[in-house]
Amino acid sequence: MLWLLYTASKCNLACSYCGGSWKDLPPKPVYPVEVLKEYLESVDPEPVIVFYGGEPLLNPKFIMDVMDSIEAVYGIQTNATLHHLLPPKYWARFESVLISIDGPEELNDSRRGRGSYRKAVELAAKARGLGVRRVIARMAVDGRSDIYRDVKHLLSLPFTHVHWQLSVDWVPKWDVRGWAERSYLPGIKKLAEEFKDYYLRTGELLGIVPFIALLKAHKEPWDWVPCGAGRRAYSIITDGTITACPIAPYEPWAKAGKIYSKEPPQHLPFPEAPCGSCPYFRYCGGRCLYWLRERFWGERGFGEVCWVTKRFVDTFFEVLGGLADEMAELEEVREYDPTRDSTEAVP
Ligand code: SF4
Ligand code: SF4
Repeated sequence: MLWLLYTASKCNLACSYCGGSWKDLPPKPVYPVEVLKEYLESVDPEPVIVFYGGEPLLNPKFIMDVMDSIEAVYGIQTNATLHHLLPPKYWARFESVLISIDGPEELNDSRRGRGSYRKAVELAAKARGLGVRRVIARMAVDGRSDIYRDVKHLLSLPFTHVHWQLSVDWVPKWDVRGWAERSYLPGIKKLAEEFKDYYLRTGELLGIVPFIALLKAHKEPWDWVPCGAGRRAYSIITDGTITACPIAPYEPWAKAGKIYSKEPPQHLPFPEAPCGSCPYFRYCGGRCLYWLRERFWGERGFGEVCWVTKRFVDTFFEVLGGLADEMAELEEVREYDPTRDSTEAVP
């Protein structure tokens, strides 16, 4: 199972669409690493641990203590600004390093803070140099994003992969549908064309995670939200509470247990939603459990995001045509597992 492990509840940045810090949680884990070790040993023979926060590198000691004590596959999601605080031998042990970055420097730094782009690229190069297999740009996308420009830019840097999430939760409603018609979907079409051409030229895939995820679902439809929240993926927040989703530390629906118990985390029910009868469920899986539950933009906003998701799926498969069957058989597609690298499969 995937465990998104909070090492700190605060962040040293305050990005425009996030806020970064959780106010009412202990700033650092209040439980000993030994308790975590015993819990994981009792419920999960093959844990994948991805350090999370806040900003996980605000607490490098906890990261080192965990990695020194627990046998697991490791990853981290970080803004990279404090990467110097973790020694190289720990970086080299990560299978996946996910770095927050939105695109070209000017766009990125206007939202994440001056200097954050430079740090993100610095860490990507360092992680690649240390042999990390998956160095993944983790984008937040909104009306100021140009998906074609931004993904192309990030793939020209030392990232192996790129994934993105539409900013449709903690921000006031914006015209996601109008933007998708004008900019996002035409950009997706161009990216899909390049993804296809690259495969035809090289037999390999560009590291565009949401496209790889669509190919995966083409062969093996999702039966749950792709991130696995509440079934195959959980978060452990700083007070030892287990929640289904890392951005739902307070929400009662997300509570799934405590590491002080020896009980496996609870399985959550799928929320009431139109997904059950939606023909796109196999490719979308409900997109995001948090978004399905919270619906910050109400029913109309929910419908707009579904519309964008459906057109995203259609656009991709219209470009790939019959080639999708062949590409879905590739090893990288078969091996892709969002509960191993903690990527967001559906934007
Ligand atoms: S497009 Fe909307 S309704 Fe359909 S599966 Fe995805 S979230 Fe559910
Ligand atoms: S996709 Fe949604 S439910 Fe899953 S981990 Fe991310 S925010 Fe949570």
